[in-house]
Amino acid sequence: MASASIIEQRDNAPVFGNYIAGSWKASQSGETYENRNPANPSELIGRFASSAKGDVEDAVSAAAEAAGPWGTTSAIARANLLYKASEILASRVNEVGRDLSREEGKTLKEGIGETTRAVQILRYFAGEIQQPIGEHYPSMSPTTFLFTLREPIGVCAIITPWNFPIAIPAWKIVPALAFGNTVVFKPASLTPLCAVHLTEALAEAGLPAGVLNMVTGSASAVGDPLVTDERVLAVSFTGSNSVGNQIKKMAGERGAKVQLELGGKNPAIVLADADLDHAVTQVINGAMMSSGQKCTATSRAIVDRRIAAEVTQRLADKVGALRMGDPLEDTTQIGPLVSADAAERVSGEIDRARSEGVALVAGGSKPDGLNGGHFVTPTLFGDVAPDSRLGQEELFGPVLGVITVDNVDEAIAVANKVRYGLSASIFTRDIGKALGFIQKIQAGIVHVNSETAGAEPHVPFGGYKGSSSYSREQGKAAREFYTQVKTVYLDPPPGA
Ligand code: NAP
Ligand code: MG
Repeated sequence: MASASIIEQRDNAPVFGNYIAGSWKASQSGETYENRNPANPSELIGRFASSAKGDVEDAVSAAAEAAGPWGTTSAIARANLLYKASEILASRVNEVGRDLSREEGKTLKEGIGETTRAVQILRYFAGEIQQPIGEHYPSMSPTTFLFTLREPIGVCAIITPWNFPIAIPAWKIVPALAFGNTVVFKPASLTPLCAVHLTEALAEAGLPAGVLNMVTGSASAVGDPLVTDERVLAVSFTGSNSVGNQIKKMAGERGAKVQLELGGKNPAIVLADADLDHAVTQVINGAMMSSGQKCTATSRAIVDRRIAAEVTQRLADKVGALRMGDPLEDTTQIGPLVSADAAERVSGEIDRARSEGVALVAGGSKPDGLNGGHFVTPTLFGDVAPDSRLGQEELFGPVLGVITVDNVDEAIAVANKVRYGLSASIFTRDIGKALGFIQKIQAGIVHVNSETAGAEPHVPFGGYKGSSSYSREQGKAAREFYTQVKTVYLDPPPGA
């Protein structure tokens, strides 16, 4: 890592600054907080700025000042800069991927994969910003040249969760910058090092001062003043429904543009004609990779009654065989949860389901050893009632429940009967049933014969119902949020 972001070494650990108006600096109070490895909490990764309202105000001032000049730079210059940032990040993929695993807990392979995704996003928007951006319309008047322009909005606040600590910041920040906006970025408190890495790559590529500002610190001390600052004209948020709804209220009330990507309770339907080997492997990947901490993770396997016993047994065998351990080890498939709080919460949900009599099929035990890391054993419940807590609530951990149904219509009805609608899968060889599912399922991302968590970076991403605010991210969809449309009627002066 280039060392600009490290403002001090204290007790053999780096202290990272905020990035405001083109320089790395301590918070105004000088206070910091610790970031530790969830697989091995005795490992201190670093200290990060504990910021507050004054730091946010400085960052918003810098972004507001930079907005005019940045918004009028040539799109080609912005494209070149983003491409340069992609090369800088690409040259550090292994190091950044490793840091991602150290601070978030997903496996090294997933950490490197996610960092590679951030590189792809930078490359994609370096290209996307060179695509046609307005439209030319016929006019009622033969002399009127009638067309639309898309212009930047101005200062955007980007607030991100810890579970994809570099990809989600990239897929928000990069299009914001590409379309000429300036940004104040508040990363999740649990994963500030990935935020530093992304910010550093963009800064080193030559972003002018103030165009991107990063402020670390707690939700209340940093998030609230950012969301309520009148100069912030757009807020893009990914995280939990409860926080998303608060942000919608706070920012929406004062007229800011708001985009929310929220939770999921994603179903995978397995029909009796499916290739069961394939279906079971995909369902397990969807449910358990990243310890189930993906918004698109599979948490309900909705299975045809005729194959339910066999599918449950096969799922149990695979859950039992998953290798849990240090995410940096090659053989590890399942790392820890992100924090002690998360592990305690998910373990509590498992205990609660057991005490309510839900059938525990695999896992459920408390792991020990493992350096005191925040591990939760991958867990499978059978015969889950669709309306139960386990059938309805997002647990955000390595927990899968099997729900049994009589036919595809019941499967789709059960799949839809939750407040969320992010992603959904069906496993079948029957094209008619697959098409019926595509039409009837209430989800923004739909898979036939693949896991719920797959998502490519150049196509729209987002959910139905309680999973998003209708807007979509990524690919061509991103410009809808990060631009506003100006309609131009251009007429010659009379007599010309
Ligand atoms: P979270 O608690 O809602 O936090 C998300 C971000 O919001 C963090 O940066 C957090 O800061 C900040 N925040 C919290 N309260 C705030 C407030 N009052 N004002 C401004 N900012 C505030 O979510 P999380 O636990 O990090 O992430 C897990 C959730 O995200 C799950 O529900 C998951 O499904 C969802 N998710 C959705 C998607 C999607 O695209 N649909 C993708 C990934 C995750 P601190 O970190 O400082 O608390
Ligand atoms: Mg951490």
